[in-house]
Amino acid sequence: MDFSFSEEQLAIRDTIRELVQDKVAPRAAEIDETAEYPQDIERLFAENGVLAIPFPEAYGGISGSSVTICMGIEEIARACATSSLILAVQALGSYPILIAGTEEQKRRLCPPLAQGAVCAYALSEPGSGSDAAAMKTTARRYGQEYVLQGTKIFCTHGNIAQTLVVFAVTDPDAGSRGITAFVLERERSPWSVLKLEHKMGIRGSPTALLAFDEVRVPVENRLGDEGYGFKIALQVLDRSRPGIGAQALGIAQGALDYAIGYAKERKQFGQPISAFQGIQFMLADMATQIEAARHLVYLAATKVDTSAPDLTKVAAMAKLFASDMAMRVTTDAVQILGGYGYIKDYPVERMMRDAKITQIYEGTNQIQRVVISRQLLR
Ligand SMILES: Cc1cc2nc3c(=O)[nH]c(=O)nc-3n(C[C@H](O)[C@H](O)[C@H](O)COP(=O)(O)OP(=O)(O)OC[C@H]3O[C@@H](n4cnc5c(N)ncnc54)[C@H](O)[C@@H]3O)c2cc1C
Repeated sequence: MDFSFSEEQLAIRDTIRELVQDKVAPRAAEIDETAEYPQDIERLFAENGVLAIPFPEAYGGISGSSVTICMGIEEIARACATSSLILAVQALGSYPILIAGTEEQKRRLCPPLAQGAVCAYALSEPGSGSDAAAMKTTARRYGQEYVLQGTKIFCTHGNIAQTLVVFAVTDPDAGSRGITAFVLERERSPWSVLKLEHKMGIRGSPTALLAFDEVRVPVENRLGDEGYGFKIALQVLDRSRPGIGAQALGIAQGALDYAIGYAKERKQFGQPISAFQGIQFMLADMATQIEAARHLVYLAATKVDTSAPDLTKVAAMAKLFASDMAMRVTTDAVQILGGYGYIKDYPVERMMRDAKITQIYEGTNQIQRVVISRQLLR
């Protein structure tokens, strides 16, 4: 497998790296502390084409490549996991349209998103997380409209999105084959925000409880045929999970970078703690785990871009391995800083909290193991 990136991909990564160093990194601690969504960073990303990365040129974007999306997410997450979700969820929310939309839908719905209109993805419900097909939200057809009724939980950016992909039951007797996907445009099909969650990490990224009370959606905003929604949801997760792996990778790399700098500066017993083999071996193990995860993440992203037949398995492996790795590496980074690692003045404390969510969302790591073993045993 060749992991050499194209000139264009490297140029996009360098642009993002510069933006992150200048504008995102200095804001990261404050975003976490205030738990306020960083609209300034969203604007910065929109103005510099970062939010156009998930879309091919034909639909107003600049790439559409999963490898490029992962490079962007990784770079941003090195400094600020919250800000990396601005790109990650733009990809998550637009994948259903790019995968299942008609040519007309893609040309109509994608260009505003590529220019920075925020989109989101509403699958989870209060009673159905891992078992997403057990959803209760319904969509009933009346002539040229559907009427949506129900609740969606934990919807990242669901309060600020202008475009929302919602999965709802159109045939209650058909199980997972009775679910259909819809694109809601906020002005035309407004939804309600009941609550924003208070979270352990990614605190500047709003996580919303949404209600749909007789929300009307035109038939032309249905994605695919009736009954294909759950298939679309799973295809989206195959494509978005490498992005969560990239987020985990970035968080871990940011924590390692900080721990290395700290270990060289901090003196105990008359020498830098980096002179102790106990610290050196921790750093070596952290770097090795990160490198292994990086290969798996970009392998999975390459499989998205080439529509490889084993994408489902490798995407789940990348998300599983990278997120477990990020939890271990950020915990070790806190350990290397000793007592200071536990203090909010130092970024590794935030990074450890941010890492945790990567083991949970877009399918918990137990569910990734279910997915992988199912592929192995079928
Ligand atoms: C901050 C945040 C952002 C999110 N963003 C979004 C979003 O934008 N859109 C969206 O649709 N959803 C989103 N989610 C939802 C997320 O994907 C779910 O929380 C996740 O899939 C787990 O579902 P659950 O919380 O209902 O846990 P549950 O499904 O109730 O699981 C509880 C525990 O049981 C385990 N478990 C469940 N089934 C099995 C099994 N078969 N085998 C072994 N163990 C099992 C789980 O691994 C977990 O440990 C978000 C969640 C959070 C916290």
